[in-house]
Amino acid sequence: MSRNDNTPLRSSGRIHYGPDMRTLIVGGGIAGLTLCGLLQQRGFEPTLVERAPKFGDVGYVIVVWPSGSRILKGLGLYERLREQGCAFTDYNISNYKGKVINSYTIDSVVEKYGPIISIYRPDLIDILMGAVRGDSIRMNTTVVSLADTDNGVETVFSDGSTGTYDLVIGCDGIRSKVRKDIFGDVPLRYSGMSGWGFWVNPDICSSEGIIEYWGKGKFLGMWPTRGRLAVFTSVRRKSGVGDSVDTRIESIRQNFAEFGGVVPEILSGLDDPRDIYYDEYNDLKMDRWSHGRVVLVGDSVHAILPNAGAGVSMAMESAAVLAEELCRTDSVNLPHAFRQYQSRRKGRVNKVQNQSRIMGKFIYTESGILSSIRDYLVRAYSSRQLFRYWDNMLKDPL
Ligand SMILES: Cc1cc2nc3c(=O)[nH]c(=O)nc-3n(C[C@H](O)[C@H](O)[C@H](O)COP(=O)(O)OP(=O)(O)OC[C@H]3O[C@@H](n4cnc5c(N)ncnc54)[C@H](O)[C@@H]3O)c2cc1C
Repeated sequence: MSRNDNTPLRSSGRIHYGPDMRTLIVGGGIAGLTLCGLLQQRGFEPTLVERAPKFGDVGYVIVVWPSGSRILKGLGLYERLREQGCAFTDYNISNYKGKVINSYTIDSVVEKYGPIISIYRPDLIDILMGAVRGDSIRMNTTVVSLADTDNGVETVFSDGSTGTYDLVIGCDGIRSKVRKDIFGDVPLRYSGMSGWGFWVNPDICSSEGIIEYWGKGKFLGMWPTRGRLAVFTSVRRKSGVGDSVDTRIESIRQNFAEFGGVVPEILSGLDDPRDIYYDEYNDLKMDRWSHGRVVLVGDSVHAILPNAGAGVSMAMESAAVLAEELCRTDSVNLPHAFRQYQSRRKGRVNKVQNQSRIMGKFIYTESGILSSIRDYLVRAYSSRQLFRYWDNMLKDPL
């Protein structure tokens, strides 16, 4: 596609305004469902295609910041988030032996912005479905090709059907096909960290807060939500080392063998490696978020390292801003709406991405001396300072 993105689009047909625009959303994860619900609320009739045959029970605990909760409030879904999620009360950091270095209360954050809520990912998907009309979703369907023409985006789907859309919104996650179709191969940025996620018996830890163990270049975090406890473990390693199901449990046990506290109990309880998820921690920064009639939202354009716990909220915030901009445009002036969307979002997303990179470097310090200094700094860091950190993350206008 060689169109100049600063000019309005050429149109061989009728111009469609705001909600009348023929809209396709690719991907029914957090960004896609949030956007679909927000657009329907504004009178749009989007079609959403999701590659998975059904929304299964895949995923662990995810975190919704108060800035993400605001979007759910607007969709009338916040009460359900409160019922099904779990509000964090405190945040505890231990050294690798399990000795608590510092415990923080997050009361001041909650007082100013509202709770930070953990929830089982499939439960959040289910909640978001409460704002989306079922007949707008086509499961088990993906996009085979997109051709941006004067008539709109001519689309061929995996079931052989076709459609023409004024705009296509790629919400298809970190390994986005829509992104690849419009921008080619854009490399993900590897953080130097890779990790495993799995469920453990929630009785191992009675806290309603997050508990993290920081070792030398290694991390183990326990994230509770209602009746469940997810553990995320991660280590510094080169990209491409990979992980085989056959050796997965052994690998986790070896990496965390020197850890104390409740970790030995966690490690001895591991039994089925197929229930353990492994991935490299990547993020993604792009100069352009759209091209012609196609725009990207969520992980497909601004994936964030998982250690920030921000991916869900950033995806929801971006969906909310794009929904607003789409109300105020038409099918030929989409490039302007997309630029507005990007300029309203990019600074904030950059800030959160950079912060998660800085945090990653700090947490995953490998040298013995530096990790001792790190632990000393954590001991000296107060709940008031933690409040300032959160205030900086949450104060931006959308
Ligand atoms: C199954 C799953 C489990 C996850 N579990 C966790 C977790 O436990 N903890 C955590 O912090 N984060 C998890 N994530 C990531 C987290 O949901 C995202 O980082 C964040 O919510 C950003 O949302 P997103 O909508 O941009 O991307 P995602 O939530 O990743 O959603 C992308 C959606 O697009 C669909 N899709 C992908 N390619 C295509 C295609 N070609 N055509 C049509 N549809 C497509 C995917 O099936 C998915 O539904 C998970 C993501 C997925 C998909």
